Amino acid sequence: AMAAQLIDGKAIAEQIRQEMKAEVAELKEKFGGKAPGLAVVLVGQRKDSQTYVRNKKKACEEVGIVSFGTDLDESATEEEVLQAVAGYNADPSVHGILVQLPLPPHIDEQRVLDAISIEKDVDGFHPLNIGRLAMRGRDPLFVPCTPKGCLELLKRSGVALSGKKAAVVGRSNIVGMPAALLLQREDCTVTVIHSRTANAQRICAEADIVIAACGKAEMVGGDWIKEGAVVIDVGINAVDDATAKRGYRLVGDVNFAEASEKASQITPVPGGVGPMTIAMLLRNCVDGAARTFEAEAAM
Ligand code: NDP
Repeated sequence: AMAAQLIDGKAIAEQIRQEMKAEVAELKEKFGGKAPGLAVVLVGQRKDSQTYVRNKKKACEEVGIVSFGTDLDESATEEEVLQAVAGYNADPSVHGILVQLPLPPHIDEQRVLDAISIEKDVDGFHPLNIGRLAMRGRDPLFVPCTPKGCLELLKRSGVALSGKKAAVVGRSNIVGMPAALLLQREDCTVTVIHSRTANAQRICAEADIVIAACGKAEMVGGDWIKEGAVVIDVGINAVDDATAKRGYRLVGDVNFAEASEKASQITPVPGGVGPMTIAMLLRNCVDGAARTFEAEAAM
C-alpha cells in the first residue's frame, strides 16, 4: 500500500508557467513593451540536445520570452562558440544565455561557461554564481535550474526545511552540489553522499529529506528512506521494458514502489523534477530581464 503523497511536478510547473506569463505581461506594461530574451547556443547534431533546445525555446515563447538561437556545426571551433557567446553578452535584447551541454570534446566547456556574462548566466553554472551560492551573506544572480526546481517542489509542498536532516545522493556540479548548497542555505543539516561514501544506505536512512541525483536506476531503495521522509527523485533513466510501446520505460534514481511505502511525500518519474527544470529556466530569464529593466530605468 502506498503511504506517500505524490508531489505533482507537472502541475506545479504548469502553475509556474502561468505565473511567468503574467509577470512577462506586467514587465512589458511597465517597461514600454520590452520583453525578456533568451539566447540558446547549440553545437552539433545530438538528437537529445536538439530536443531539449526545442522544448526550452517553445516554453519561453509560450510565456512571452523572445528566443534567439545560434546553431553551430559539430566541427565549429572554440573561437566560434566564444564569439556567439560574446555577441549575446553585448546584445541588450538578450537577458539570458544558455549553452546546451555537452559540447563536442574538442571544445573546452569550462572556457565557454566562464565567458558567459554572470548577469546573463541563466543556467547558473558560472563559477562566480556557484561561489556566491556557497558563501554566507552573498547571493548568486542565478541558481542552476534542476536543483532550484527541487527546492521549489519542497517549498510548494509545504515541507519545513529549517533544522531538518537532508541527504543529497550525488555531488555533480549541475545537480548534487548546488542542491546541497541550497538546502544548507535553508538551514538544513546536509550530508552529501557520493560513489566513495561508506554506508551510504544507512546514512541516507537518517534523513528527513532526500534528493536523489546519482544517475543509477532505482538505486535508492526502500531501506534508504526513513519513515515519513520527503523524497525528491532527480534521476531519469531509460530501462529496457518489452511490454512498453517504445521498448523502454523511464525510471528515477529511487525505487519508487519501495520508497513510496516509507515516504510521506515523493516525486514520480516522469512528472516530478523533470518539468520543473524548464519552469526554473523561465523563472531565471524573467528575473534576469526584470533586473536589467529596473537598472536601465534607473539610469
Ligand atoms: P552525474 O553522473 O554527473 O553525477 C552522479 C553523481 O552520483 C556523482 O556525484 C557520483 O559520485 C554519484 N554516484 C554515482 N554512483 C553512486 C553510488 N553508487 N552511490 C552513491 N553515489 C553515486 O549525474 P548528474 O548529476 O548530471 O545527474 C544525476 C541524475 O539526474 C541522472 O539520472 C540524470 O539523468 C538526472 N538529471 C535530471 C535532470 C532533470 O531535469 N530532471 C537534469 C539533470 C540530470 P562521484 O562524484 O563520486 O562520481
